Amino acid sequence: MNSLNTPVIAIHGGAGTITRAAMDPAKEGEYTAALQAVLQAGQRVLADGGSALDAVTEAVRLLEECPLFNAGKGAVLTHAGTYELDAAIMDGATLAAGAVACVKRVRNPVLAARAVMEKSEHVLFAAEGAEAFAAAQGLELVEPGYYFTQARHEQWQRARATAGMALLDHDAAALAARAGNAAPGALAEPIDPDTKFGTVGAVALDAQGRLAAATSTGGVTNKQVGRVGDTPIVGAGCYADDVAAVSTTGTGEMFIRTVAAYDVAAQMRYAGVALDEAARRVVMEKLPAIGGRGGLIAVDRQGNVTLPFNTEGMYRGFARVGGPVSVSIYG
Ligand code: ASP
Repeated sequence: MNSLNTPVIAIHGGAGTITRAAMDPAKEGEYTAALQAVLQAGQRVLADGGSALDAVTEAVRLLEECPLFNAGKGAVLTHAGTYELDAAIMDGATLAAGAVACVKRVRNPVLAARAVMEKSEHVLFAAEGAEAFAAAQGLELVEPGYYFTQARHEQWQRARATAGMALLDHDAAALAARAGNAAPGALAEPIDPDTKFGTVGAVALDAQGRLAAATSTGGVTNKQVGRVGDTPIVGAGCYADDVAAVSTTGTGEMFIRTVAAYDVAAQMRYAGVALDEAARRVVMEKLPAIGGRGGLIAVDRQGNVTLPFNTEGMYRGFARVGGPVSVSIYG
């Protein structure tokens, strides 16, 4: 996509298997509208002269508030039926970063990650310590019931009954379909909710040429208690420097092992590879070589945007200041 040096924001809401069998236009419209609204909000921040950091914070906060996506409200459940959320944010201009892992009571994990970045001397807080830090910063804590959605609960029950293993959020409905026990409506989602990676993320370039990235997730459905994925790991699920900003979604373990987000920026910095090609190598070669599934969104300092994925679909979109909002789901 064109390099225009114009401020731009890109977002994702997870990747996974497309449920071609029963695509419901109404459901598809819901996802499209949600992505459009978030992109417009991010576009406004940038148009008003806001920083890339503020744009990605606001975009991810809104995605966390939206129950359609696996972050904040609408998060997936652990094997124990609990919620454990991860998030990270990074400022490409300064290499400042903040992250939280395994939080169970923070309404907006991305705001906690940002507070860690700006108000502490550390980068990553986990569990109760992260919650205490967020509370001390005046951030809202919620009861675990806040994250509950009927759809995720049923998805978790299917995962436990059918697989007994951890599933990517958007991949979980496909599994139900194969097993013939899909919940009513489960297959109406454009991307199979039982098998998708529903993590959310945003990357942006602002008018000052600064890049930023943020990622937030409930993790993978039916994950073991205490499991931490790639999302809060700087360089794996989220990375930004003065070359590129990257946010990923997919099988977190493989994104950690390939240092996926950093790999995109490193290829560009050290080997002069273009953004598109650097991202393609990670998503289409490096990750599949070890069984990694998912995708990423990335922007470089010229404003080029790329949104590759190796699954059937990925909820994604981008918008330049003064330009149209572009949203896609399928390949
Ligand atoms: N990458 C996330 C994780 O492994 C899952 C996702 O992208 O949905 O926790």
